[in-house]
Amino acid sequence: MSSPSSQQQSSQLEATAVDNFREYLRIPTVQPNVNYDDCVAFLQRQAKSLDLPLKVYNVHPNKPIVIITWEGTEPSLPAILLNSHTDVVPVFPDHWTYPPFSAHMDEKGDIYARGSQDMKCVGIQYLEAIRRLKLNGQRFKRTIHLSFVPDEEIGGVLGMKEFVHTKDFKSLNLAFALDEGVASPTNDFFLYNGERSLWHLWIHCPGNPGHGSLMLDNTAGEKVRYIIDKFMDFRAKEKAKLTNPKCKLGDVTSVNLTQLQGGVQTNVIPDKLTVVFDIRIATTVNIVEFEKMIRGWCEEAGPGVHIDFEQKNEEVEVTKVDATNPFWVAFKKASDKLGINLDVGIFPGATDSRYVRAVGIPALGFSPMNNTPILLHDHDEYLNKDVFLRGIKIYEELIPAVANA
Ligand code: ZN
Repeated sequence: MSSPSSQQQSSQLEATAVDNFREYLRIPTVQPNVNYDDCVAFLQRQAKSLDLPLKVYNVHPNKPIVIITWEGTEPSLPAILLNSHTDVVPVFPDHWTYPPFSAHMDEKGDIYARGSQDMKCVGIQYLEAIRRLKLNGQRFKRTIHLSFVPDEEIGGVLGMKEFVHTKDFKSLNLAFALDEGVASPTNDFFLYNGERSLWHLWIHCPGNPGHGSLMLDNTAGEKVRYIIDKFMDFRAKEKAKLTNPKCKLGDVTSVNLTQLQGGVQTNVIPDKLTVVFDIRIATTVNIVEFEKMIRGWCEEAGPGVHIDFEQKNEEVEVTKVDATNPFWVAFKKASDKLGINLDVGIFPGATDSRYVRAVGIPALGFSPMNNTPILLHDHDEYLNKDVFLRGIKIYEELIPAVANA
């Protein structure tokens, strides 16, 4: 039984956590052209309240990377990173029940705001878990760095993507990172140990131009048809795999035709047509072989057909979820102790974790939200207060486990 005063303290801590969450949500760090000033000031106040040092790194002007550090008892050991991004995606306010930056809490305790799931919840949950662990007088072997990074929602190009290659990042001396996952509508929690590689490619199909009445050889239309057929046949095979209930989106290579460009007028055969694909390559696919295959299709399509890559992510090794990874072992043990069920898989989209993994640091994607509809990037994004508070309790177990691993 906890004493009345400790009960009072815990309800005070819960009130603080909800207040901080809602205050953070009210800062409109919304894409595009985010002004991060208020966000940095908010984090500075949080660090001060935790009595922890904070540093701001400006790899690019107006793109602050905020790091709050809690030094371990053995600071020479490689450290732990708790990462979250500070920006959120745009909103269509007309489609919202409550204004998207009001952080309105209804009678059920549902807190409505852009960023409530993706991922200001996680940023505050880390901070509040650390507040409680510090209050309990706990210390851990490894140093813990909390990173708050900009622009994840536009690919992290001026954020984490560059930061991982800086001296400042290297000096954090990281052994392991936690980053975002997604809400789970069931009682289980999603955990991600890898991501598919994102490719955006433009395939240009040049050909003989001429009058629309002619039957010319070597036309752009014939070539683009060949390319589309190849990609769509491949897509159909991948899609068919999903009829197996054990196969999830993250396990297959997705292909989508997203743009078609070209032509001048209806009776003119164009000198070029271009087709654009969004492709997410499964982690089990050999990327070199995959590229060979699509370059082969271009050659078969006819003379001059070529690819421009708008995005071409390298193959990144997945984080091991077996006995060889002590951080996974610690994470799993703590989850078992909490009685939470982890659904481990490959993240279907892309997060900043890919940059962290690419420089050799194992990372797990996890957002402690179960029994919650997946509303990231959607209208009426919300998170229930009790799910949010439970997430802090979950980190109170997970953070010590990995920081002592
Ligand atoms: Zn996110």
